[in-house]
Amino acid sequence: MDISKVLIANRGECAIRIHNTLKSMGMKSVMIFSDADRGSEHVRIADEAYRVGSGPSTESYLLQDSIIEIAKSSDCIAIHPGYGFLAENAEFAQKVIDVGLLWIGPNPDLIDLFGDKVAARRIMQEFEIPLLPGTVDPVEDMSEIADLVSAIGFPLIIKAAGGGGGKGMRVVNSEDDLESSLEICKSEAQRSFGKSAVFVEKYIQRGHHIEFQILGDKHGQAWHFGHRECSVQRRHQKVIEETPSVLIQDGETDELLEKLVDVCKELKYDSLGTFEFLKTLDGKYYFLEMNTRLQVEHSVTEMTWDVDLVQLQIDAAFGHRLQIKTQEPKGSAIECRIYAEDPLRNFAPSPGVIETVTFPEGPNIRVDSYLRDSLEIPIFYDPMIAKLTVWGQNRNAARLKMIEVLKNSRLHGIPNNIGFHEFILRSNDFGAGNIHTNFLNENWEKLSEELRDERKRFQLLSVAVARMRLGWHSNHSDHGFRILDKESNEGLENLKCVLIVDQGGHHLVITDNDAKLRVELVILDAQKQGMLILHRSKPYYVAIEQDDRHFKCSIGAWNFDFDMYEAGSLPISALGNVSKVSDNVVISPINGKIIRVLSHLGDTVEEGQVLLILEAMKMENEIRAPMSGEVEIIVGDIGLSVEKGQVLVQLKSQSEN
Ligand code: ADP
Repeated sequence: MDISKVLIANRGECAIRIHNTLKSMGMKSVMIFSDADRGSEHVRIADEAYRVGSGPSTESYLLQDSIIEIAKSSDCIAIHPGYGFLAENAEFAQKVIDVGLLWIGPNPDLIDLFGDKVAARRIMQEFEIPLLPGTVDPVEDMSEIADLVSAIGFPLIIKAAGGGGGKGMRVVNSEDDLESSLEICKSEAQRSFGKSAVFVEKYIQRGHHIEFQILGDKHGQAWHFGHRECSVQRRHQKVIEETPSVLIQDGETDELLEKLVDVCKELKYDSLGTFEFLKTLDGKYYFLEMNTRLQVEHSVTEMTWDVDLVQLQIDAAFGHRLQIKTQEPKGSAIECRIYAEDPLRNFAPSPGVIETVTFPEGPNIRVDSYLRDSLEIPIFYDPMIAKLTVWGQNRNAARLKMIEVLKNSRLHGIPNNIGFHEFILRSNDFGAGNIHTNFLNENWEKLSEELRDERKRFQLLSVAVARMRLGWHSNHSDHGFRILDKESNEGLENLKCVLIVDQGGHHLVITDNDAKLRVELVILDAQKQGMLILHRSKPYYVAIEQDDRHFKCSIGAWNFDFDMYEAGSLPISALGNVSKVSDNVVISPINGKIIRVLSHLGDTVEEGQVLLILEAMKMENEIRAPMSGEVEIIVGDIGLSVEKGQVLVQLKSQSEN
C-alpha cells in the first residue's frame, strides 16, 4: 500500500479541488472516470486515472465495489468521496473501512444517523437544539399528523427523511392539498431515495439559510469555522453563498456555535460537517439538517478563515491530533455556482458542448472549474460546472469584485447563469442584503422580465456591432437580415441596422420591422478584437470573435453566439434543430433522456397535460401539450436519448378531425 495515494471517488471541479490539496500535502491522486468524462480535466491532471464505467452515475460513480476495487488494485491508502455521489453513503464508508482502506469522512454510524433527517431531528432535540415545530417520527398517514397540523397550521412542508439536493420536499398551503401531497411525497421519496419515510414541519415563508462549519478529530476535539449564508436559492438549491451574512450581528451565533461544538464532542464527530439552520425574520434559529461531508460552498470559509478544510479533513481521517489556532475570520467572501442551465427557461439544464471558456485569474479570485474549450458537458450529472469565489475587505468589496470577475468570464456554447449572477449581485436587493430563501421564487416574475430585457438589449448591441464589422450598415443597402442564436436555437428576423454619422459620431440604430426591438449605440472606438460603445450614456466594451457568419460576442457578463444571415437566405427552420416549428409540434428543449411516457398514439390530451418526462442533469423536465388535441406522433421509448430541437410530439387539433 502506498501511503501517499488517495482515490478520489468524484469527478469534475470537486475531484480537482481535492487533488490540489493532496498535491500540496505531497500526496498523489488516483481518479476515476466514466465514459462520458474520458476527456475531463480531472482525468488529465490526475496522477493516475482509471475507467469506472459508462455514463450514468448508477453505472459509474455510484458503483461502490468497482471503486473500492480500483483503490485496492492501484495501491491506495484511502478514499476521499468529495461532495455528492457517495459522500454521505454510510454503507460505502463501511465497506471502505472493512477492506482496510481509510475513509476520509466521519465514522459511518454518524453518516447513518444524520442521513435520516427524522433521526437527526430527534437527536438534536435531545441536545436541546431548537427544531421547527413538526414531527420527530416518520409519518405514514393523515391520522398521525391531524393534531400537529391543527397546532402549527399552514403553510407546512412535507420532506423526505432521506432527501437531499433540494429534492423530495413539498410545501402545502391548505388542508385540501394535504392528503394528496403526503401521498405524492411518499412515493417520490421511495423513487428517488429508496425509502418512503417523510416528515412534516412548519414552513417558513421567508427564512435565511444559515449554516455552521464544524470539524472534529479522532481525539474528541471539535471546532467551528463560523457561518455561511446560502439564502439565494432556486428550487430549494443554493446558487450564491457568502460569509459573513450581513444579517448576523457580531456575537449573535456564539452561543449556538458553542452548543454545536459540544454536540460534536458528545457524538465523537470526527471529520468535517455542516449544521444547516433556518433563521426566521424575528431572529430565531431552527435546525434543518446536518451534512456529514465537505460542502460545495466550503471555499468561502477557506477564504475568510485562511484554512484548507480538505487538508484538515484528511489529517483528521489519518488520526492526527489536530492543532487549530484560535483565529478570527477576515473580510468577506462570496461564491457563485456556475450552472449549465438557462435561467430564462425556468433554469432548465443545458448540457452541450462548451465552445470556448475563460475565467479571470488574480489575487483573491478562486476558480474551481473543469471546463475547457470543446468539452462536452454530459447529461448525466449535476448541472454545476464551475464555482467562482472571491474575497474582499468587506461585503461590498467582495460583491464588486465578483461582478468584475463575472464580467470578465467568457463561456460560449451553452446557456449558463453567468449573466444571471451578475444581474443578481448588481441588484439593490442583494446589495442591501434583502435576500431570503424565497427571494428568487417570489420575485422571479419581475426579475426574469428584467433579466430577459437586459439579455435582449445586450444581444442586439452585440448584433449591431457584428453587423458593423461586416460593413452591412448603410441606410440604403441594408435590406434586413436575421440571426440565429446558437444557444437557444431561436431566430430574430427582419432586423435592420442603420448607421447615422453626425457631429455626435457614428450612431448605430438596430430595429426589427415593426420597431418592437430597438437599441441605439455610439461607436467610440473600433478595434479588431472588439468595439468600445456608448449606450444609454454608459460605455461598454463589446468583444467580438468572428468566423465567417458565426459571431461570438461578449458584453460584460453576457456572452452571445449567433449566426448572421442576409434577408431571404436560408430559412431558420432549415438550419438544424429548432425551438419551435408550429403550435402543434413539441420540440425537445434540452438534450436529455426520456424517463417516462405519459400519453400514447391516438390519446386525446388537454392543453398543459404532461406528455413525457425527460431527465437531464438529475432534473426531471415535464414536456406538456401546447394545445388540446390528439397525439399523432410521440417519441415514446423509455431510456431513449433525445437532442435539443428534436421533435418529440405532434398533435392534431380536434377541429381537424
Ligand atoms: P436538502 O437536504 O434537500 O438540501 P434542506 O432541509 O437542507 O434540504 O433544505 C433545503 C432548502 O429548502 C432550505 O435551504 C430552505 O430554503 C428550504 N426549506 C427546507 N425546510 C424548510 C422549511 N421548514 N421552511 C422553509 N424552507 C425550508
